[in-house]
Amino acid sequence: MEKKNIDWSNLDFGYIETDKRYVSTWKDGAWDEGRLIGDSMITMSECACVLQYAQTIFEGIKAYETVDGRIVTFRPDLNAERFASSAERMEMPVFPRDRFVDSIKKVVKANAAYVPPYGTGATLYVRPYMFGINPVIGVKPATEFQYRVFTTPVGPYFKGGAKPITIRVSDFDRAAPHGTGHIKAGLNYAMSLHAIVDAHNQGYDENMYLDPQTRTKVEETGGANFLFVTKDNKIVTPKSNSILPSVTRRSLMHVAEHYLGLEVEEREVYLDEVKDFAECGLCGTAAVISPVGKVVDHGKEICFPSGMEEMGPTITKLRETLTGIQMGTIEAPDGWIVEI
Ligand SMILES: *Cc1c(COP(=O)(O)O)cnc(C)c1O
Repeated sequence: MEKKNIDWSNLDFGYIETDKRYVSTWKDGAWDEGRLIGDSMITMSECACVLQYAQTIFEGIKAYETVDGRIVTFRPDLNAERFASSAERMEMPVFPRDRFVDSIKKVVKANAAYVPPYGTGATLYVRPYMFGINPVIGVKPATEFQYRVFTTPVGPYFKGGAKPITIRVSDFDRAAPHGTGHIKAGLNYAMSLHAIVDAHNQGYDENMYLDPQTRTKVEETGGANFLFVTKDNKIVTPKSNSILPSVTRRSLMHVAEHYLGLEVEEREVYLDEVKDFAECGLCGTAAVISPVGKVVDHGKEICFPSGMEEMGPTITKLRETLTGIQMGTIEAPDGWIVEI
């Protein structure tokens, strides 16, 4: 496979059009057989449900080359499952889980020339999504949907080392109690745009969102789950039904327990106890885990002992182990690595 002539190591996390995408349509109560197409543009009614009422969900997964030159993805079955629960919550038809995984394979294979070579740190980001496309003016779910998958090569998340970031405790909420925080719906991101722009304007990298009901417990950021390390080296992650269940976070918890022999705990985490942790990281597909050096709560600074210069030792170990599993240098649990 001749790779495209791209400066892989200097790619950003941005959109670059690749050759093929997958599309399948739901109409008259059934999905069509689906196909790969070349056209990256979508034409739809001005009154399409997605445009008026934001009926849209998505997933994010990456494909990459392993040390021995295979092209693989990481745990796509979990994305398929999460996509199905997002669809159900949004009154959309479920795209069959096996077809979801198959469509990812098809699109990655068709764009194999865009899969960054091993060792560049870059990956091919895969974006499955679904939206209501027929005209809807009275508020109700669409009756026609498109399921699509496109890919875009993205650069290494950390260029020249992962510097710890500073986050603030947000006065905005990302999810309502009993709302849609636990699914990957575009509307959750629409909600977060003002909060993140405001955080950046105030000099912070990210928002720490609290539970919307009592505003005393840690939930997550706009796009990543928290993972804390206690001073006696236990791994703690917040539990809440409005947190999006991150595949990366669940994988890191498994790695902590079964590869590193650490005690792990998923439980409610109060903002008051954040000051007692030794390390803090943010988990998501794009960065795997990014270190947090400081949390600012309305002017009060909580500085983790790991500091602002480098990642703490336990988060470093977690990150190295999981990326080793992904890249094929450390043996993976059964079913985690899916070959294209
Ligand atoms: C996608 C997402 C994450 C990260 O999930 P991964 O499956 O690890 O990529 C975390 N929080 C939110 C709100 C998300 O949308």
